[in-house]
Amino acid sequence: LMQLAVPLNFIGFIYREIRQGLTDIENMFELLDVKQEVEDRPGAKELQVREGAIRFDEVHFAYDPERAILKGISFEVPPGKTVAIVGPSGAGKSTISRLLFRFYDIQSGSITIDGQDVRDVTQKSLRAAIGMVPQDTVLFNDTIAYNVRYGRFDASEDEIRKAAELAQIGPFIESLPDGYRTMVGERGLKLSGGEKQRVAIARTILKAPPILILDEATSALDTHTEQEIQAALDMVSRGRTTLVIAHRLSTVISADEIIVLKDGRIAERGTHRALLDSGGLYAQMWDRQREATEAEERLRIARETD
Ligand code: ATP
Repeated sequence: LMQLAVPLNFIGFIYREIRQGLTDIENMFELLDVKQEVEDRPGAKELQVREGAIRFDEVHFAYDPERAILKGISFEVPPGKTVAIVGPSGAGKSTISRLLFRFYDIQSGSITIDGQDVRDVTQKSLRAAIGMVPQDTVLFNDTIAYNVRYGRFDASEDEIRKAAELAQIGPFIESLPDGYRTMVGERGLKLSGGEKQRVAIARTILKAPPILILDEATSALDTHTEQEIQAALDMVSRGRTTLVIAHRLSTVISADEIIVLKDGRIAERGTHRALLDSGGLYAQMWDRQREATEAEERLRIARETD
């Protein structure tokens, strides 16, 4: 069950091939004969998370040796703090989260958690320590309760309800005729992107990992949904070391540090306020995004009043 930490969006592309009911991700790799990129070192130890400090030190990485993606990235996420990674599409933001999970090994530099190199610990213990709220959550063809319980299978019904409440999806579930027994997934009730994301947040609240990766949705959500999701995300990241992969900029405002990635390097870093004041790349991205969001909102209102 520790394999559950593998982010479901990462394997989303093969999801449709997967037999229903399969919950063990290692089996899933075997079943599909997908080669795992990395293996545990002989004698690899379990990761011991004490405070949950993440450190990237001069990380160089390429999927393909011909094309460097990260060219010497160094940053830290101190215990319990939130660091957001922003930057143009294709800059390598999601790559950073994959490297923390050690889906790939880096070419040089190091990635450590509380001083332990991710290459020296078992993948199982590494993935158990990290919770992921992905952009696109895969729901199983089962009840909504099962889909929340997936975060921790021994959770009681009470704990499931509590997690759903904290994730701001409780009232929605209660409003369904079958409540927590409502069937969801491809063959059941289709949930919206925002609802699915809140199910993922509820799962993560149940799992209660010391380290969290939030992969913010690329798609536009309406302002109200976005606020609800933001509240749920704040809830789940409180007191946890959190890395936010921000494809939009809405979740980064309160981050302790924002790292702006461009062409494989860190172009700027600082708080939201400091980066806006310095008028660089981040400030430009922010302006552009605000204009786009305002345009989307106007369109939506126009559609609704039609
Ligand atoms: P976006 O905001 O658009 O999601 P991103 O900053 O998260 O972008 P990444 O997904 O990290 O970008 O991708 C960085 C670069 O690495 C891209 O140019 C992408 O094409 C390439 N890339 C990503 N995954 C792979 C892969 N499995 N094999 C080869 N190249 C890849």
